[in-house]
Amino acid sequence: MSKERFAPRSRLFAAFLAMVAPMILGFQALQAQAAPPAKQAAPQTPSMTTQHIAGGLYLVKGGSGANTAFYVGEKGVIAIDAKMTADAAKQMLAEITKVTTLPVIMILITHSDGDHINGLTGFPEGLDIISSEGAKKEMIEAFKSENFAGHRRYLPTKTFKDPFTILPPMPDGNSALIMMYHFGPAHTSGDAVIVFTDEKTAFVGDLVFIGRDPLIHRQKGGTVFGYLDTLKKLIDLKDVETYLSGHADPQTKADLRALLTTLEEKAAKVKAMVAEGKTLDEVKAAFGLQPAAGSQPSRWPSFVENIYLELAGKKK
Ligand SMILES: [Zn+2]
Repeated sequence: MSKERFAPRSRLFAAFLAMVAPMILGFQALQAQAAPPAKQAAPQTPSMTTQHIAGGLYLVKGGSGANTAFYVGEKGVIAIDAKMTADAAKQMLAEITKVTTLPVIMILITHSDGDHINGLTGFPEGLDIISSEGAKKEMIEAFKSENFAGHRRYLPTKTFKDPFTILPPMPDGNSALIMMYHFGPAHTSGDAVIVFTDEKTAFVGDLVFIGRDPLIHRQKGGTVFGYLDTLKKLIDLKDVETYLSGHADPQTKADLRALLTTLEEKAAKVKAMVAEGKTLDEVKAAFGLQPAAGSQPSRWPSFVENIYLELAGKKK
């Protein structure tokens, strides 16, 4: 929030803050100086924690890789995504044993990015692994590298294209449905949305980022406009109230609506600029996306850049 927007009375408070803030900050600086050097070391991967979401569903945060989840049924556990390293996957298995002694019997994969699947080798071999067709194709491609020879034993055993139903191992299989959906190319060519109907919760992998724009992996067949379409379909999911993301805290439908509005506004602005014949550099400048002199360019093109590239590509 900018200072210009403060009401007059708040201005006094702002002036007061301006006076005391340096004192508080100075005090914190002193505290930081007094702290042992170890505390100033580079930030470490946050340790793994498990959060109960609802019913049989738990969210696992921290450790190496994206957030994962697991669902405890009557006869076994279903894991959702697999962390980034075998060690992190084993830590996730240890988190599961804090909740249940039942074995993991199945892994559901949201998409093929390494921070979601490279930990597969930390799981026992021979489990059912389910992904979309697109994700399996991308995994086969990724595992061609000799570094991933061990991962080839963890390719999906079952794939789906149309909405796919899983009956978790419950005594009355009808009561607790898990549905997997693929709404078309978005973040990648093969994103899966996993809906836990009793828990009114969807695990959406990388289809929702908060605090930064979504990543679109065009090299894996991802598309900005497919992404926006998928986001609408996530919002339209009946009875889903909570959305679990690979890289954010649980979100509500209202959060997703706000996200969609922001991204649609960006898309509309880029569209108008493309129609005016603006160049990519001009578009980036309008969004303040030009990297500062001497700084490293980001590893992935921004959402705005991807919008431009898609629109420019479509014009031909
Ligand atoms: Zn991803």
